[in-house]
Amino acid sequence: MTKKKKEKHEETRDEIEKEKEVLEEKEEEEKTTDKETEKKIERQITRGKKTKEEVLEKAKEPEKKEPEKERRGRREYRREAEHVEWIPKTRLGNDVLKGKYKSLEDLLMKGEIILEPEIIDYLVPELKNELIYIGGTPGKGGGARRTPTKMTARMHKSGRRFKLNAVVVVGNEDGIIGIGKSVSNEHRTAIEKALQQAKLNVIKIRRGCGSWECNCEGAHSIPFKTEGKVGSVKVVMLPTPTGVGIVAGGETKKILRLAGVKDVWVKTYGMTSTRGNLAFAIFEALKNLSSKKGDM
Ligand SMILES: [Zn+2]
Repeated sequence: MTKKKKEKHEETRDEIEKEKEVLEEKEEEEKTTDKETEKKIERQITRGKKTKEEVLEKAKEPEKKEPEKERRGRREYRREAEHVEWIPKTRLGNDVLKGKYKSLEDLLMKGEIILEPEIIDYLVPELKNELIYIGGTPGKGGGARRTPTKMTARMHKSGRRFKLNAVVVVGNEDGIIGIGKSVSNEHRTAIEKALQQAKLNVIKIRRGCGSWECNCEGAHSIPFKTEGKVGSVKVVMLPTPTGVGIVAGGETKKILRLAGVKDVWVKTYGMTSTRGNLAFAIFEALKNLSSKKGDM
């Protein structure tokens, strides 16, 4: 047995050495090819008709042209499609493009109905978006693994037919927040449609400091207590002093951060594991800030 083992060892060693030799040979070949090209260039120069620069340029040109054609794939076209100029379809779109409205606040104060998502892109270029993880793989505690899209099924005589729901939040982290949801057969289109909806559903929220412990005149929190309710989910938000942060769960935090609220206490009641309803309840509560009377 030991002899056999030794033989095996020796065999493997031999193989490794052979591989090394092959690699070295390859390297040498590469070097020689470089040398050959240099020799060719030298020959062309010595024949006298061309300068060194011309020869080098000619050698480079064909190498450059070919990969450009290959690289032109889907990505390039998509980018081009994104940069197509916006042609507004509505009266409001035309007004925005002419520069009638300097900011989104102006537009919202006039009570205009936004029908084109491009209006928001144009007025608030720094808008950020975030996916609310409403779905999950079936399992304990509302799904073991959370996903941005929720899969729903209806029964058909030949099996189940699926649809995907998505909820997207947009905001500029400075008082502007929007939420949208959508359904589609595909994951990606559901998210894209929800994003468009979120842009159309944008509001300006009221911020302030309603905490008796803080008493500053900043806008880091909310001016007073608010509530929002969607489905069975009820949300109560309370103003806090500075430095407390957003006291809430992961999905709620995303929305409040995008809205630009830095410190807030959040209480929830009901079936908060339906995260779609939770997100919309938070949005309702933020919306109610501007429809209620307060101390501010
Ligand atoms: Zn304060």
